[in-house]
Amino acid sequence: MEIKKMMVIGAGQMGSGIAQAAAQAGYSIVLNDIKPEFVQKGLDNIAKNLARGVEKGRMTEADKQAVLGRIKSSTSLEDARDVDLAIEATVENMAVKGKIFADLDRIAPPHAILATNTSSLPITEIGAATRRPEKVIGMHFFNPVPVMKLVEVIRGLATSDEVLKIIVELSRKLGKEPVEINDFPGFAANRILLPMINEAVYAVYEGVGAPQAIDQVMKLGMNHPMGPLELADLIGLDTCLAILEVLHAGFGDKYRPCPLLRKYVKAGWLGRKTGRGFYDYSNGGAK
Ligand code: NAD
Repeated sequence: MEIKKMMVIGAGQMGSGIAQAAAQAGYSIVLNDIKPEFVQKGLDNIAKNLARGVEKGRMTEADKQAVLGRIKSSTSLEDARDVDLAIEATVENMAVKGKIFADLDRIAPPHAILATNTSSLPITEIGAATRRPEKVIGMHFFNPVPVMKLVEVIRGLATSDEVLKIIVELSRKLGKEPVEINDFPGFAANRILLPMINEAVYAVYEGVGAPQAIDQVMKLGMNHPMGPLELADLIGLDTCLAILEVLHAGFGDKYRPCPLLRKYVKAGWLGRKTGRGFYDYSNGGAK
């Protein structure tokens, strides 16, 4: 089966990035969210990224318009009725994803593949919310999607070989490097990354150092391009907490989320997307 038409559900940082990458690769995309203003925010984000590409001479104004022209907005899941692939990128919450997959299963044509960009939740359980678990697969992109090469491809217990092959090929068509990973909590990337982020939050919580100092140590001492707390702010502290809860439930105490992370999430300090996390971004996005 050839993928021609795609829908991306969730127009936040990841959904808008996936829609941009797919539209730049020539695909027609429907970008869906629960409210028109959320879809618009995603589209504005894409337009801003593309405008930067034009400024830097990587694309022409006509290319930019053509890419934007391939993305259609939607606030109804019924728009999945003629897609070949739906990629879900909403919040990291099993109940929300389960409901969306059950609805997509009812609406999308029988041949359609249903993928999820979940960071940590079991693909097998998401597949079980549908009557087509053989067509449900994890397609875990990284932030910012138009820049980052990796896609973790995760099959659930029932995912078919054919669906795996189609998604691996599609990832390459989007300019990405797919890596096959098995269905364990947090897959590979977040099982390794999140304990480091959590430990950095504990270091701030226990007074080992200020966020700037902790990040400097990891950048200058370990040659990391970003410090763990800057990266947590980029990922979103709500998403970090949700992933740690999955790791904690799956593997036990060493993954227990730091109380300071919980406190920031309760305060609505979610990182860059809300203008405040371990750093303050209220000044036009700069730290
Ligand atoms: P985000 O908060 O930026 O965006 C989530 C979007 O989903 C919001 O616009 C919200 O309105 C929308 N949404 C919520 N419920 C919906 C529904 N029922 N139907 C349609 N839209 C709905 O979050 P994000 O950072 O883009 O993360 C999205 C998903 O991608 C999560 O599962 C997350 O774990 C995963 N992920 C995140 C990162 C990252 O670095 N942030 C990386 C890889 C994967």
